[in-house]
This record gives sequence, structure tokens and C-alpha cells, in this order.
Amino acid sequence: MQGCGLPQAWAGQPQWCVLETGFGMGFNFLSTWQAWKADPDRPRILHFAACEPLAVSPSDLLKAATALPGLLPLAQQLAAQWQGLLPGLHRLSFENGHVLLSLGIGDAQDMLKVQSLTADSVFLTGLRPQHPAPGWELNTIKAVARCCRRGTRLASREVAPVMLEGLKQCGFELIKSTGLPADAHMLHALFNPGWEPKTPRQITRPLPSEAMRCVVIGAGLAGASCAASLARRGWQVTVLDVRNAVAAGASGLPAGMLAPHVSPDDSVLSRLSRQGLRATWQTARSQLREGLDWQACGVLQRRFDSSGALPPEWPEAGEYWSRIATAADGAMPAPDSALWHGAGGWIKPQKLVQALLSGAGIRTCLGVDAAHLQRMPGTEPLWQVQTASGRCIAEATLVVLAAGFDSAALLKSSQMDDSLTTAMPLQAIRGQLAWGAVPRDAILPASPVNGDGSFIPSFPAPQGPASEPGQDLVPHWLMGASFERDVSNDDIKAEDQLALLGRLRHLLPATAASLTPAFEDGRALAWAGVRCASPDHLPLVGALDETDLPGVHICTALGSRGLTFAVLCAELLAAWLHHEPLPLEKRLANSLHANRFQKI
Ligand SMILES: Cc1cc2nc3c(=O)[nH]c(=O)nc-3n(C[C@H](O)[C@H](O)[C@H](O)COP(=O)(O)OP(=O)(O)OC[C@H]3O[C@@H](n4cnc5c(N)ncnc54)[C@H](O)[C@@H]3O)c2cc1C
Repeated sequence: MQGCGLPQAWAGQPQWCVLETGFGMGFNFLSTWQAWKADPDRPRILHFAACEPLAVSPSDLLKAATALPGLLPLAQQLAAQWQGLLPGLHRLSFENGHVLLSLGIGDAQDMLKVQSLTADSVFLTGLRPQHPAPGWELNTIKAVARCCRRGTRLASREVAPVMLEGLKQCGFELIKSTGLPADAHMLHALFNPGWEPKTPRQITRPLPSEAMRCVVIGAGLAGASCAASLARRGWQVTVLDVRNAVAAGASGLPAGMLAPHVSPDDSVLSRLSRQGLRATWQTARSQLREGLDWQACGVLQRRFDSSGALPPEWPEAGEYWSRIATAADGAMPAPDSALWHGAGGWIKPQKLVQALLSGAGIRTCLGVDAAHLQRMPGTEPLWQVQTASGRCIAEATLVVLAAGFDSAALLKSSQMDDSLTTAMPLQAIRGQLAWGAVPRDAILPASPVNGDGSFIPSFPAPQGPASEPGQDLVPHWLMGASFERDVSNDDIKAEDQLALLGRLRHLLPATAASLTPAFEDGRALAWAGVRCASPDHLPLVGALDETDLPGVHICTALGSRGLTFAVLCAELLAAWLHHEPLPLEKRLANSLHANRFQKI
């Protein structure tokens, strides 16, 4: 840190990004995090991006940290998230999302190529001049240089001549440092190339507070997650919703299931679902009550056809996410055709929305129907959100549309470029689920089960549909959900309840038999909502059109995986906006970009 002029260099900055080429046991990360915690002038967001060829075990991390007891509490938090580190990029989040670790498991050169980041400081570690691949150090330094802005400082303990040469060749000036012991084995450098670096971000001054006003339209999972991610970065956020309560749209389901998607080729959706799951659980862990509002209890996936197979060479780290189920996982009746998603579970989306919206810097206005966006005259983008009669509801430099299926209508009625709305074809998918208090004689599986619909055997909820504060919670079951394409109303249908019972008979016959009386006598309640989906079933995130709609962003089309995707998508939106390291590999991030259909 001292070699990079830290912590003084980051004082007063809105964000700072440290890049370390070799994570090792994480000492440099933990020390940087500790210094950030102790510094009253710390940046709001500290990014630490690091690469490591193979992840050590969490117990090795902890064992190593005992050598530096001051770091042990932080090492324990790191070890708790140190799970499922398959090759590729992982985002771990600490300090309520203010300290973000982007960990690339793989060769540093490859990992730096797949990421989008601009480093403010570089800790050049883990470079071994004796690496078997010829030219490996130079190529790694080149990859590092591509992530630097003019003025990035670098420090290293490696002083081999090949490194010094490599650094000079790649645009670094070696600098003399003061204040270090004379015998310190240390190299300091400044990135100051004779060419213009192609990094997206230069050192920034914090924006004046009046320019950091944002309106989010929609108080569901997408809107609440975006509001939280932006407020964390210093925005004053107003969240608008036409309904009179938060999470009153699709995000109002009593509980929902999260499980990673699996595919033999580990598809984009499979990889996104794991990153999304990690992001949701991190937020749940820090903001909700485990066992009451969420539980990562694992999910059993019954496989009635050949879909949902694991990749043939699934590394050991993958077993944290998904593996072939055994009898001990409750895999009946054919253990070897079922999967066990150990990182799956259930969550109450309303609780998540309420927690996200309760953060500092967020104001919620309910019962307001946003009908148009109107750009105000002036050189800087300023938007007015108006009612149908043209009354101003809110004004801001940044607008995030998170109104689900209604986002497209909102854009259309704002009379913006027609090609944009046709290029963003959103589909409404009505869905209904059945749920109720667990009857005394119910036969329930030990964990949530999916495969033909999804069944959650037990989550606590107040008896009866109206939730009164302080009311006793009793175990509830839930069976989801129907799919009705191109239907945008949330009417309850009796035939859907029957169809749900039919699917439960297929998924879990004994459970269905024990719950049939509840379906027959009306104890099985019904809940319906409208999902919003894109043509490729992936979310739409980011800036809509920077030329015609500067400052207008979208976060929607979470489909039937909003509980998995919302937090991740919001972090992606905020990272793009602030030119921060992305929480996903570039290719995965681009697969979610709001303007991807405009290019077709
Ligand atoms: C039956 C069912 C079961 C599901 N089960 C699961 C599950 O198990 N796991 C899972 O991950 N996902 C599940 N989902 C999907 C998940 O619920 C959604 O993906 C998620 O809630 C979408 O969140 P959102 O914020 O995008 O939309 P919403 O929650 O619908 O939020 C949009 C908000 O925008 C507001 N709005 C709209 N127009 C305007 C306007 N003009 N002005 C102001 N406000 C406006 C709406 O009132 C609404 O509150 C399920 C969905 C359904 C319907």
C-alpha cells in the first residue's frame, strides 16, 4: 500500500480500484480492507480485483491469517464467502457492498482479459520470473498495463531485471520511493506511457450532490436493488410506484425459490445464475433474518427428462453449487437422476425489497403513476417524470426504468424513438402459485424440490393472508407456478389451482395426496403476478441510448428468476454507470446489455 501512496492517494475519492496479480492467502486484500476501514477519508467504494490460478481452501485461508491476528476477523468474513470458486470471475461483497472483491480464478493474463476494469493502484505479486511459459511475465505486465490509467501507481517486491524491462516497455516509469527501509526489496512505478491509454475511466472528482439525483420507476425487486446500489454510490434516489405498497407487483409473491441453472455446456444462463445466487445470498446475509426471511437450505431438482445435466467435467468447486443427489439429500424415488443444488434455497422477496429500500439516501413515493419522461431544455441531461396530465412527479439527471412489463409502455408514451421500443420487445407472462399453512398431517419433503414446478415445503408466515406485525408465524408450503404468455393481468384463476395440484402430483405424489384436501376446501391460497421477459429470457440492464436518452437506464426482464438476478443486475447497472470493475466477465455482462436487441 505504501508503495502505491495509499491510503493518502484514495482520500476523498468516490471509488478506488486496487488490482493485485496474485491473491495468494489474501494478506494484501485483507490489509487494504483494514486500512480502508480505519480511514475516515476512505472512498465510498473500494474495489479489489485479484487473480489466482487455483483457490485454496477456506481453512487454509484462516490458518494463514492466524499469523496476523489483527486480520483474523476480516479473514473469517472472507472465508465465509470463499465457496464455489470455479474457474472464472467471482464477486465477493463485504461491508454492505462497500468493499468489493473481484476474484479471477485462472491465469492472470486470461483473467485480466475477460474483465473490464481500470486500476488506480497495482500490487504486482505472484509474478515468478521462472514461470515455465516463455515471456509469461512480460505478457502479464502487458495485460496489467491495459487495465491502468495514466497515473496508476504500481508496487512490487519482485525486482528481477526482466520485470524492470517489462514495466518500462509497457509504459511504466520506475520511481524512487522515500520512507521505506534502505534494504527493502521493493519496486515502485508510475503508469505514464508515451501513448494514450485506452481505459474508460480517469481519476474523477465526486459529482456535486445536486447532480446526483436519481429517479427509479418501480418499487419491485429490480427497482429496490437499483436504488440500493445507486444510493451506496452517493445518489439521492427517489423510488416511484403506482401501487400503494412496495413489492406489490411480481415481487409480491409470499416466497420464491432460488437454484442455479445447470447445463452440459455451462451456458451463459448457468454461469449468470450462479453469480446471481451469490449476490442475492450476500445481500440476504447482511440485511435479512436467516430462517425467517430466507434460507439457503439446498434444493433438490428432480429430472424427468434429459435436460439439466451437469457439465461432463465438473470441477470439485462446482459441487458447492450442484451435484448428483444422493439418498441422503431426500432424492426420491430415483436418486441418480436428481440433482442437489446445495446453494439453493428460498427467500421472501417482499422482505428483501423492504430491506433494500430502507437504506440511507432512498425515498419511496407510492401511488404515483409515472406516464412520461420529458427531457428538460439545457446542455446537461435533466429528466422530468410526469403523470399522464403532464404534472411533474420528480426530476433527476438519472432515471432507471424498473417497471417490469410496463417499462416498454412508459418509453412508448414518452414518444421516444419508436425503433427503441420495437427493439426492446418485452413479453408479459402471467403466473399463479398456490400456498398455505402446513396441515398437521402433511407429508413434506425435507427440502425445496423443483423439476415440474417448484415446491417449498416450509417457510414461516403469519396464519392467514393478512400479515399483522407481531402475529405468530407458522410453517407454510408453496407450489409454483403457472406460465401464461402475453397475459398482463394478475387475476386469480380456479383452473390454475387445479393445474398446480396436477403438477404437484407429478413432482411429489405423496405430498400432493396429503395437500389435496387443502386444495379442495379452499385452505390452499392463490397468488398471481405478471413476469416480464425478453426474447432470450435474460434480463435487460444498462443505458438505453446514450445519444437520444442520456441518463435513462433500464433494469427489467428478470423473467422467472428475479430473485436470483435483481441484485446482480443492479450492481452491473451501477458499475457500468460509474466505470467500475464489472461484477461479471465482459462477455456475460454484455449478454445482459439493454441495447443488445438494437444491434440485430
Ligand atoms: C407466480 C410467480 C412465481 C414466481 N416465482 C419465482 C421464483 O420462485 N423465483 C424467482 O427467482 N422468481 C420468481 N418469479 C419472478 C419474480 O417474481 C420476478 O422476476 C420479479 O419479481 C420481477 O421484479 P421486478 O422488480 O422487475 O418487477 P415487479 O415486481 O413487477 O415491479 C415493477 C413495479 O413497477 C411498478 N410500475 C409499473 N408501471 C409503473 C408506472 N407507470 N409508474 C409507477 N410504477 C409502475 C409496478 O407497480 C411494480 O411494483 C415469480 C413470478 C411469478 C408471477
